[in-house]
This record gives sequence, structure tokens and C-alpha cells, in this order.
Amino acid sequence: MTAKLATYRRKRDFARTPEPAGELPAEAGGARFVVQRHRASRLHYDLRFEIDGVLVSWAVPKGPTLDPSVRRLAVHVEDHPIEYLHFEGVIPSGEYGGGDVIVWDTGTWEPVHTDDPAAAVAAGELHAEVRGEKLRGRLVLVRRDGPGDGSEQWMLLHKHDEHAVDGWDPEDHPASVLTGRSNEEVKADPDRLWRSDAPAAEASVSLLPDPLPDPLSDEAIDDLEAMGRQGTWEIFGRRLRVTNLDKVLFPGDPPVTKREFLAYTARIAPVVLPYLEGRALNLHRYPNGADRSGFWHKQLPDHAPDWLGSWDNPEADDGETTTYIVAGEPAALVWVANFGALEWHPWTSRTTAMHEPTYALVDLDPGESTSWDDLLVLARLHRTALDHLGVTARAKVTGRRGIQIWIPIVAGYTFDDTRAWVERLSRTVGQVVPELVSWKWEVKARGGLARLDYTQNAINKTLVAPYSPRPAAGAPVSVPITWDELDDPALRPDRWTIRTVLDRLETAGDPFRALLGAAQELSELT
Ligand code: MN
Repeated sequence: MTAKLATYRRKRDFARTPEPAGELPAEAGGARFVVQRHRASRLHYDLRFEIDGVLVSWAVPKGPTLDPSVRRLAVHVEDHPIEYLHFEGVIPSGEYGGGDVIVWDTGTWEPVHTDDPAAAVAAGELHAEVRGEKLRGRLVLVRRDGPGDGSEQWMLLHKHDEHAVDGWDPEDHPASVLTGRSNEEVKADPDRLWRSDAPAAEASVSLLPDPLPDPLSDEAIDDLEAMGRQGTWEIFGRRLRVTNLDKVLFPGDPPVTKREFLAYTARIAPVVLPYLEGRALNLHRYPNGADRSGFWHKQLPDHAPDWLGSWDNPEADDGETTTYIVAGEPAALVWVANFGALEWHPWTSRTTAMHEPTYALVDLDPGESTSWDDLLVLARLHRTALDHLGVTARAKVTGRRGIQIWIPIVAGYTFDDTRAWVERLSRTVGQVVPELVSWKWEVKARGGLARLDYTQNAINKTLVAPYSPRPAAGAPVSVPITWDELDDPALRPDRWTIRTVLDRLETAGDPFRALLGAAQELSELT
């Protein structure tokens, strides 16, 4: 099998990934076939037969047919890994096969006149009895020229049998047999992405939000509600001393007390944790409430419990923070909230590789004269650019006035790399609407225009975590959104608060989940 996939692998870059590619055994229970309708640089149908654990493949420009009078060109292309069998989704543009793919037909098949189909292919003639939903009966593939380098021209025909249909055209039957969707519909809202640069077992990446963790039990919240001004709260298996529970932390109607803030933090902690784990945490503390001035707190306090995760920065200079909090469990975030941290800012890099960002970040920072509609224009232009580049990214509203875009990237990039890439992206976008954007550093010099702030791509510079509250009246929250929501007239940067975002999560899920596990290389910007 390794030899069979050699061509496939050669066309992809596995250099960054140590795992072996294409090693999964075929499933027992009969050989399968698939026809994928693939809109790449040009439309074609990929006809693939499962043979000896790989998908032996032909690209058929005009598609297979039931019409026995038709001869179709079929270009024998390299074997594909079995994981590709039922792939339906998008392949990033710029990558091998970039475009959109649907499972146009699938089913089982049997070789005819042979029990060694690999030998039949090698000999240049394969007879296949197929049982799909659209394709039925006997297909014959015959090589037109001699053995070559794997890209030979073959001829595909359907025999005159009981399944033959005169005049049958595959383009009259365009829907996916898996989902009923067309290529156009899949392209507009893909469920999956095929990462040609990843090993086969990891290449198919879900773009849908993962299921959220189980919600916290009401009992845990009831215990907090029943407590006096302070007490010991048993939460997530830890015993936490919680204090000043009736203090108002956010103005509002009614105001948000620390008790309500802690209850929110406990409920949201399992959702936020994947964005905090393994990262140093910068805390924005407002111990006297959001309407008093706050300050950055980074140093792990002496009174922190032993179980609270931490990290010693090996590069800390004199006077700099030496030990950071690392939230490795939900209780850690509750501890941090009780400590007066109203805003949570995880580092963009992990502690295990502090100089390698895991996200490239676009910070759309409105100026005084930037309207919400202006900001949406800038966000949509970035959406279009990223879509064009085939880059997986998601936006979130900040809970104040801005919008950020988070782009997950593979290991190996520096902050210089991400800063330069985002600057180039944003300058390209900015050229479309120069009247909305200033590139001046000082706020005063910007003339009220928006700033596309690429400079946040730097070590120990942080953006607010998803679902972190912001220090403002009503306790607004920074909330991930789907790309489509940029077109929702009800969208506002501070639309959700700690009182409403949990209901949204229940119905809409967490759009940022799609970023976890979708780390990608940054495409070439030319
Ligand atoms: Mn193809």
C-alpha cells in the first residue's frame, strides 16, 4: 500500500508531520466505490474503486454515464487514501485539487473476469459490476495507450445491460447522494475541509462546532446562591474560598454582583478551557468593579492554591513577571474570577513553545468615527479574502466595539511571520476602502478612522479570550460568531452579556470549536 500511495504523498508536503500517511486498513465487508463531483480548476468526476486498501482513481471530465453508446475519456490518476472515500467538502484553493467536492455516487462493486483487480488495472482493462444509487451495471475501463507514469488516458464505457439508459447524462443528476446538496451549496457552507498537507487519517477536518461539554449542574450554582457574603464553594472537585459575593462588579439594571459573575464563570469555564489550556494567562483585574480603573496582573500570587497551574517564564528580565497562571482545569478560571479578574487574556503561544504563535490574529479596531456598519465592511472584506485564500478562520465580537479574526496555524511560525502575514492581508483589504482605515500608530493621528491592528501578533501581547466578560455596564461578553452572522442585521459588538450568552451557546453552539484542530499553514500572499 505504501508504494501505491507514493504519488499521492509526493504531491503533498508531509514534512511538518511525523505521522505515517495512508496506513489505515480497508474495512471488511466488500469493496466500495465512489464518484466525487469535483469542481477544481475545471469540473470533473473522480471515479474511485477500493482495491487492496486504497482508492484506485480515474478523473472523468464529462462524468460516468449509463448511456451505452457513449465513450468517455478517463484519466488514470494517483491512488487516493481510503479516508477520502466519503469526503464531501472543500479543499483549500492553492492546494492540490483545490475546490469543492460532493459524493455524487457511492456503493459497492465487484471485479468481473478476475479476482485480482490490481493486476487487471496494471494490465490496462478493468470490468466492474457497480451497485451505486445512480450508477448500476457493468462499467468497463480500458487503457488507450501503453503503461505510463500513472497519468495515462483510459476509456470508460457502460455495457449494454439491463441497467443501461440511452441519453443518460450525469449533469442531470447533480445532487450528493450523502446530503442531497449541490457543489454550490457545499462550497457556500462546507461541513468539512480536506487538508492535503496532513496525513490521511487527519486530513478530513470538521468545520462544524464540536459538541459542548456537559453543562454544570444546577446544584453547584444553588450552593453559591445559598451562601452568605463569603464561604467555601465546592466546584469542579475543588474547594474554593469565595469572598465579597454581594459586591457589585458591573453596573447595570440590575447590577451584576460578584456572585452572579462567579456563577457565569463556572458555567462558561468548561467551554473556555480549550482556549486557555497550556497558555500563560494575563489577567485584567478590577477588584473594585468595572466602573473603577483596572490593572494588569500577571504574576502568580503567593496565596494561590498549590493545584493552580503555573509556568515560569525562562526569559523574564529583572522586574518582569516570572511566574504566570496557567488555567488547566475549569476550577482555575473560577479562582481567577474570585481574584477579581474580569477579563481573561491567554497568550497566543503555548508555554511549551513561547515563541511560536498558534493563531494569527486580525484585530479590527474601530476609531472614533468608525460606525458599526464601517466595521462590518472591514470584517466582510477580510472574510472574502480569507475565503479566497482557503484559510479556515472565525470572527468574534469583542463585547466592546470591535471584531477580531482568529486564524489557527501549525507549529513552526514566529510572531514576525504572523505579524507580517496579517499586515499584508490587512493592507490588501485596506486598499479597497482607504476612506475607512488609518495606518497611523498614534490614536490622535488616525483622524477617527479604524485601525487594522496586526501588531497584536507579538509575544505577550494578547487578545481577550472567547467568552470573557468585558469591564463595562451589563457585563458584555466577547462572543465567537459564524461568518454568516456578519450579515445578521441584529449583530452588535456588545450584543451578548453574561446573562444571555449561555442561551446562545445552547442554541448556536460555539463557532470557535471549528478552530480547534484546524491548524493550517499560512497560504502564500502574492
Ligand atoms: Mn479530482
